[in-house]
Amino acid sequence: MTIRHAVTLSVGDELLAGETLDTHGRTIAAALAERGCRVLEHRVLGDDVANIAAAILAATASADLVVITGGLGPTLDDVSREALAEAMNEPLVEDATSRAHLETWYAGRGRVMPAGNVRQAMRPVSARCLENPNGTAPGLQARMGAALVVVLPGPPREMRPMLEGVLNEQLPGEPRPAIVIRAFGIGESDAAERIEPLMRRDQKLPVATTVSQSLLSARIRGNRPEDRELIESLAAQVEKAWHPYVFGRDDVTLPMALGAEIKEAGRTVATAESCTGGLVGSMLTEVPGSSGWYPGGWVVYENARKIEDLGVAAELIERDGAVSQSVISAMAEGARRRAGSDYGVSTSGVAGPDGGSADKPVGTVWIAVADEAGIDARCFHFPGGRSVIRDRTAKTALQLLRLRIRGDASDLLWQRDASS
Ligand code: AMP
Ligand code: MG
Repeated sequence: MTIRHAVTLSVGDELLAGETLDTHGRTIAAALAERGCRVLEHRVLGDDVANIAAAILAATASADLVVITGGLGPTLDDVSREALAEAMNEPLVEDATSRAHLETWYAGRGRVMPAGNVRQAMRPVSARCLENPNGTAPGLQARMGAALVVVLPGPPREMRPMLEGVLNEQLPGEPRPAIVIRAFGIGESDAAERIEPLMRRDQKLPVATTVSQSLLSARIRGNRPEDRELIESLAAQVEKAWHPYVFGRDDVTLPMALGAEIKEAGRTVATAESCTGGLVGSMLTEVPGSSGWYPGGWVVYENARKIEDLGVAAELIERDGAVSQSVISAMAEGARRRAGSDYGVSTSGVAGPDGGSADKPVGTVWIAVADEAGIDARCFHFPGGRSVIRDRTAKTALQLLRLRIRGDASDLLWQRDASS
């Protein structure tokens, strides 16, 4: 039987209390979508046998697959096992294989299994246990009428591989083809306008856009393997419309894209960071092999560091302030010279919440890229709080460097006229 519709249930008092963020709902929805199964409903439930049992029964009436996460721990507050037994109207019995697995798990760690853990080897009589390679709680899988019901442990590193295993078994075959285009430096409405005809809902495969942490994505998803050609052609159209802001596809990050381009160009970059305090360097060093093109950089937060570490003239800071075109340029050039790198990238701005003024309000940021041909210094006005401003500043610095390597001088989102 093909599985097309799912209901997902996240169980745990901590999720309802706002202590833990329910991430499983979206993890599972995304994994199911890749395999052509749609989530009809997602619910968050407390650790309560009757409520969970009622939710399982209701879900089996509408879905072919019900995925429940959480509530499989050894303590008495975890009751998803009991709830499944109640929904199935079956007694719990001990599963010999699971019990042996639990005992081996503890023995392997030089410990004796606590008595309470025996509960984890229990299953409704017609259910089967799913092996958990990364923890003690086995999962459960059962058939209820036409629906398949799966219960997985809550800890993400245990849940994810077990989910993969279930999906590989239950929803085999090629995943639905999809391409995600990744871009930075263009606003969502501007981006949407550029691909408006492709986004119309009456298209065979409409393109959908999302923004997360200032990163723009366009998702194109097919229904069957034969859609790959159409997806590829739509992806190419989006890439063209969003040029030069597109930095990659699928799982490529902005630092990865930049790293690949700078490596390809055989060049190096050094950083001089004020308001980002090392974020740019941190993003660059996320990329494996970055030591090949990133010698390092300076965090020059107070003025003395800008002057002594990078050779910024004290008079410039005195005259124009630390957040200015002259100082950001001297920082970028100072980093480039002192590191002996091809490029120098610098950031300096007012990240707030204090420190703003009438002519340099919170969010005012200067970013520069220096190379042998000169210096490209730009002023931005980023909206948002301190962490958002710092994050956007670092990403913008990476994108500016990327464009500089390509010889592209396009404006970026939130860029201001240098005179303003
Ligand atoms: P449990 O299986 O109920 O013992 O869950 C153990 C731990 O898994 C919880 O304390 C949470 O940290 C984590 N967890 C459970 N459910 C979720 C969820 N829906 N999203 C993210 N983490 C979860
Ligand atoms: Mg729990």
